[in-house]
Amino acid sequence: MPAAKYVGLDVGGTTMKAAVVDDAGAASKAVALDTNPERGQDAGLNTMCATIELAVKTAGLTMADVAAIGVATPGLMDIRAGLILDPPNLAPWKNVPVREHIQKAFHKPTAYQNDANAAAVGEKWVGAARGARSMVMFTLGTGVGGAVVIGDTVIEGEHSHGGELGHLRIDMPDRGRRCGCGALGCLEAYASATAVVERAREALAGWRGHTELKQYQTVFDQKQFNAEVIFTLAEKGDECAKKVVDDTAYYLALGVCSAIAAVDPEVVVIGGGMAKSKAFLAKVDEYVRRFGLPYPTLTDRYAKQLGRSDLPAPVKVVFAQLGETAGYIGAAGCARKLANGAT
Ligand SMILES: [Zn+2]
Repeated sequence: MPAAKYVGLDVGGTTMKAAVVDDAGAASKAVALDTNPERGQDAGLNTMCATIELAVKTAGLTMADVAAIGVATPGLMDIRAGLILDPPNLAPWKNVPVREHIQKAFHKPTAYQNDANAAAVGEKWVGAARGARSMVMFTLGTGVGGAVVIGDTVIEGEHSHGGELGHLRIDMPDRGRRCGCGALGCLEAYASATAVVERAREALAGWRGHTELKQYQTVFDQKQFNAEVIFTLAEKGDECAKKVVDDTAYYLALGVCSAIAAVDPEVVVIGGGMAKSKAFLAKVDEYVRRFGLPYPTLTDRYAKQLGRSDLPAPVKVVFAQLGETAGYIGAAGCARKLANGAT
């Protein structure tokens, strides 16, 4: 009997991506189709099926080779019921029976998961947290995605909102920065790519010295002034950009420290487009050791003081490794878990 294969589908606001993933987590060539949410949810469900079929065909396989399918979508959602409820990135969709539709269309066991959770499952299976017993993940994008995975279990929560680490409160709820969720002071309002640009504009307005960022002050095309530009200038030594990036590391670290206090994970994974700079990661790590709960973050010091060689290593803070492939690889990982009889 050939080794089992799984299809992972990652539904985003712009595109849907899918690939066939084998039992060892190796993915075939990924395919992508436009989501076009404005065409409505029936068209969306058809595109999901078409993306799955295309991935299987592109891998040179047939549906008979597929043991199970995993689908990841953004929220709001009801993971247990397999529904997308009211997703801001997929307006005007409402109450979309994703899992039931895919299951009926292909007659395959179908797993359904939040996209940030799926990305964490992927990183834990074959990425930055491979082999770890427990992990938390922060993904810095338009927002800040989060996930908590303990063993094989994704912490989905009672309302499908477990592990929403972007909404950890790092500032006062009556005067912090405004988050996409409507509240003030959430991590997302400080450390998302959008928030980094906002804070850079503010830093620039009060900056007395020279900074390359000034040339972007008059740029009308807002897309040119983005988090990547700020991070690149910081790497080059631009003082104003460095300040913005250092503050971002500080804010992110406060969120990481809260997650450590709640979960005490083996690994903290930082993902997303702007999380590539080693200097940034080193800063986050430094702040985590400084402000985090001492025992999990400085276990090596305790081990030395106590003369113990059997203590676990301190919590690790690392970059994600799978990039944009994490979503469909993780979705396939959820399908694999379902096919192997786990609940
Ligand atoms: Zn929030």
